[in-house]
Amino acid sequence: MRAKRRPEKTSGLASTLEGLVSLRGPAFLHSDPLRFAHRYKNESDREIAALIAALFAYGNVKAMGAFLEALFSSLGPHPAAFLRGGGKIKSAPGYRFQKPSDVSAFLRGAGLTLKEYGSLESAFCSAEGGPEEKLEAFARLLRSKAGAMTPGLSQLMPLPSTGSASKRWRLFLRWVVRPNDGLDLGIWRCLSPSQLIIPVDVHVARLSRALGLTTRATPDARFAMEATAALARFCPEDPTRYDFALARLGILKECKGRHVEELCSKCSLRPHCVLGNAGAAGLSPAPKGWSENK
Ligand code: SF4
Repeated sequence: MRAKRRPEKTSGLASTLEGLVSLRGPAFLHSDPLRFAHRYKNESDREIAALIAALFAYGNVKAMGAFLEALFSSLGPHPAAFLRGGGKIKSAPGYRFQKPSDVSAFLRGAGLTLKEYGSLESAFCSAEGGPEEKLEAFARLLRSKAGAMTPGLSQLMPLPSTGSASKRWRLFLRWVVRPNDGLDLGIWRCLSPSQLIIPVDVHVARLSRALGLTTRATPDARFAMEATAALARFCPEDPTRYDFALARLGILKECKGRHVEELCSKCSLRPHCVLGNAGAAGLSPAPKGWSENK
């Protein structure tokens, strides 16, 4: 079902972004780890699958997909009930920074959270404060349920209070909070889409600078908030609605984050992009200190 929310202002960059959203929608779900959550019918399974897929959404796309494939296959057809009931997978796979023991501890902690709160949404919203305070408390809760912190668990569940862009947490929130538009799931009600912050991956970071959504050099929390505020001028009730389509440009290799005439000449964003013309080839769109692991 398509989301009904539409931006009020549809001119210039806003209308170009709208065009991009209409072209890069559900048909491209296969290119995103969000596809794993769509495999399940009930909301509990979709919710836990979204958390797992979002937190491991870093690194090489193929390796990540293979890892998640193996992990979800081990969790069976109803991962929420499996984990809530204390189910353990026989030999958890490891993934890059996470040893098999980290993956097991994370899953155990997620299961304990489900058992205590009933759902991840209840756990998230049981904390005091606004969305940022709730996110911090949610990250701390999941970390505490996982047990003793290891480097792998710390990387998997970073604390937003460190000031990073918290891309993977914000990806999870976008997936569960934004309305069901064939991509996002629309299964949480305790936050509204207007409260979301855009998940800044390397592609979105480059485009945010190239399109003038922010001038910040470091892709940190303030970078994400500034880019979100710029997008909110086009659609205040749902500023992260552009995220999936923008990220596709890099993921599908339609944008290299620099001037490549063969690509830029076909790009609808060119009139708004400082890199879109040959004379801009020397400009660097890359934010400083980027790490995809944040
Ligand atoms: S104009 Fe070129 S650099 Fe700018 S977004 Fe499009 S493909 Fe990327």
